[in-house]
Amino acid sequence: MIVFGQDSAQAYLRQLLQQERIPHALLLAGKTGWGTLALALDFARQLQCRNIPHAPADCACAACEKSRQLAHPDIHFSYPVVGTNAVSTDYLAEWRKAIAENPWLSANDWFQRIGAENKQGNITKEECVAIVRKLSLKTFEGRYKVLLMWLPEYLGKEGNRLLKLIEEPPDQTVFLLAAENTDAILPTILSRCQMVKTYPLPDEVVAKALQNRQGLDAERARQIAFLADGDYNQALQMAQTLESDDARLLVEWLRHCWRGNGVELVRWAEQFAQLGRENQKRFFTYALHFLRELLAIKVNPQLPARLRPMELETARKMATVFSLEHITQLAARINDNIFYIERNANPKALILDASLGIHRLIKKPQ
Ligand SMILES: [Zn+2]
Repeated sequence: MIVFGQDSAQAYLRQLLQQERIPHALLLAGKTGWGTLALALDFARQLQCRNIPHAPADCACAACEKSRQLAHPDIHFSYPVVGTNAVSTDYLAEWRKAIAENPWLSANDWFQRIGAENKQGNITKEECVAIVRKLSLKTFEGRYKVLLMWLPEYLGKEGNRLLKLIEEPPDQTVFLLAAENTDAILPTILSRCQMVKTYPLPDEVVAKALQNRQGLDAERARQIAFLADGDYNQALQMAQTLESDDARLLVEWLRHCWRGNGVELVRWAEQFAQLGRENQKRFFTYALHFLRELLAIKVNPQLPARLRPMELETARKMATVFSLEHITQLAARINDNIFYIERNANPKALILDASLGIHRLIKKPQ
């Protein structure tokens, strides 16, 4: 797991390992974008490492490899999910994917990933029952049984079911919590945890990570780091947005078209009208390019597409939802839009009309 910055927290955790003074309940407190979850994941790895107490970041022992893939049988994960009786493992595949891509993600990013934008996320009663059950098992192969809980602030009153476990834990059991807002954690839980704080990442740490991991040039990395305010997740989002504003806009537009919510569509059309004619034209031209590539992917998924990685991912998802008929009609519609924009059509009315047309088109049974 990649950890950068947070030197004091890292040093403290290393000391705990070396002195074998692992607390039963350890709370890492700070924004996920500062690397708090990444730090917790890495600490869980170090607890299981075969070379403990010296568990170097690049250790290649079997335990570390499994931990990095979030597949160590003695590291269990809890995180907020949606659905009345849902437990975290229901979303395990999504969780592994999300963490592999971005362990700095925000709660919002996570909820979007699991399609829960408008629903309340929760760590449910059922999840608490599952935790009690999992931690009553013997360890499979590790030295510790670790329960890593991300965002314990989503634990309602049901969290009190865990108190006894935290107070009198079975042997070699570690509760490892990564929280953003300690004020929102049940006081009964908070008071039983040893707390380690994390802090916003220094600009130069963010800039260096952007250069080394995202391949940004020094100047842009420095600008984004300055704007990101110590939050690497925000930095990543800015790096992507600035890179492909049109791509983001297109996905946003099609998402609105898909939902067909009148209020949202009008608001989006108003924003779009502000862009100015040249940007609007460029956007539609980009949309045509994207749809051509989407068509190619649909016809032959093996063909290399002329899309950047983020766009390619979107295109692959869209290829499963949109039919060939959809894509051709969509392209025709956008082609018309370019024609009208060039002839000074009212951009707000134009995009609103196009949006509704696209909504009907997508929702029409094939
Ligand atoms: Zn190891």
